[in-house]
Amino acid sequence: MNRFSETLTTHSLPLRHGKTEVLQVNVGKLCNLTCMHCHVNAGPKRKEIMTRETIDRVVDWFAGTEISTIDLTGGAPEMIPEFRYFIEHVKALRPSRHLIDRCNLTILLEPGYDGLAQFLARHRVEIIASMPCYTAENVNAQRGEGVFDASIKALRVLNSLGYGSGLPLHLVYNPVGAFLPAPQARLEADYKRELKKYFGIVFNNLYTITNLPIARFASYLRHHDKLEEYMQLLIDNFNPATISGLMCRNTISVSWTGEVFDCDFNQMLKMNWQNGNGPLYLWDLDPAIVENREILTGDHCFGCTAGAGSSCGGALV
Ligand code: SF4
Ligand code: SF4
Repeated sequence: MNRFSETLTTHSLPLRHGKTEVLQVNVGKLCNLTCMHCHVNAGPKRKEIMTRETIDRVVDWFAGTEISTIDLTGGAPEMIPEFRYFIEHVKALRPSRHLIDRCNLTILLEPGYDGLAQFLARHRVEIIASMPCYTAENVNAQRGEGVFDASIKALRVLNSLGYGSGLPLHLVYNPVGAFLPAPQARLEADYKRELKKYFGIVFNNLYTITNLPIARFASYLRHHDKLEEYMQLLIDNFNPATISGLMCRNTISVSWTGEVFDCDFNQMLKMNWQNGNGPLYLWDLDPAIVENREILTGDHCFGCTAGAGSSCGGALV
């Protein structure tokens, strides 16, 4: 039993799937950036990307369910060659189906991606964009030189298309080091004030996300001899009130190959759902048997339950 499941047992808090509301699809590890906190180890040299055949199988499965939302993540999801095909394919289903693109902003300005922002706006895709700070210094430290300026430029393009007013545009903050996020409401007010004042930029909500100690962020912590200290910080701040809102309760996560997981973090740790002796693929999953299924946990889960909690939709309490 890992320390997280022991903690759940101590608090008599079972962790099981509820009704599935989101299918989160990680379409691959290819990205134009190599951020220090990345839990995917994504970067420009990664080869893992979802093929058209897998997209077809994922969308066909999704079409037969009552799940309302597909949440595309990566890597930079827009970099897979079939990204636009994926969106058009989902939008051809019932129009009430909702699509989210987790965007690093800079990809919207890269050569070869002309018209991408306009495409997203035309299909009314919700954008959740990483923006770890409103200052150039902090953003560039975490994501690389020049990323702040490119992100501001991309946000201006999105605003000009109606994002942040008629179309949903949310920003994601994550700490630039081994500490927990500040209160979400306060940070959101700071972001709104600063981005409006200095750049004329508007957006809807800010989501604070805690860095989980896995992949590249774990390497960073190890390198600075801070892994144990950070793990202890997460454990010491365990908040039982976060459990009912954990994203693994209403989400199914799928990899670029179609394998199924409880969440994107478990996916990176290869904690697959099993089908006999091998991984379970989405197209072999009966959606009716997901509810009440036990969720696989590990010590990394303390990252979701520390303080105000953390999920793809921000703080939990
Ligand atoms: S955090 Fe996001 S933008 Fe940065 S390398 Fe990872 S996938 Fe790419
Ligand atoms: S990492 Fe977070 S979302 Fe994933 S299973 Fe653990 S608690 Fe749930």
